[in-house]
Amino acid sequence: MHSTRPRFFADEMLGRLAKWLRLLGYDTEYASDLSDSDIIARAESEGRIILTRDVSMMKRKRCHSCIFVRSDHWREQLKQVYVEAGLNRSSILTVCSACNSLLEVVDKGLVQSLVPPYVYKTQEKFSRCDNCSRIFWSATHVNQIIKELERLTKES
Ligand SMILES: [Zn+2]
Repeated sequence: MHSTRPRFFADEMLGRLAKWLRLLGYDTEYASDLSDSDIIARAESEGRIILTRDVSMMKRKRCHSCIFVRSDHWREQLKQVYVEAGLNRSSILTVCSACNSLLEVVDKGLVQSLVPPYVYKTQEKFSRCDNCSRIFWSATHVNQIIKELERLTKES
């Protein structure tokens, strides 16, 4: 199942979008120091869709799998990619938004000293990044965005 999910490569102008795609559970590489041709080569070899705000990148013949992101605002960017790439919320909180590694579910008891008391009191499900050890939970701002995205796909 996992292999059929789209994977992305976001260019340097799209860091915030990359973070949100990861929160939704989509493997998203983000590069701030690669040339266009390096991004295209890596995206091709790893089967990733390139997300770019750069018109010259779109014009390159070798960029067959690109989405030109129209808006400057991450919320609009996320909505565009969500619809155009046919995304869903089924794997939310499976990918680390900071480093793009996989998250594993952890027992609530293990995170008590690692999360704010209010979060510990109000949340039941926690995940931890294998790589950077950050703890994630279904925060209110994430749920709000998901609701917006779901509304969007129902309308279309
Ligand atoms: Zn991480």
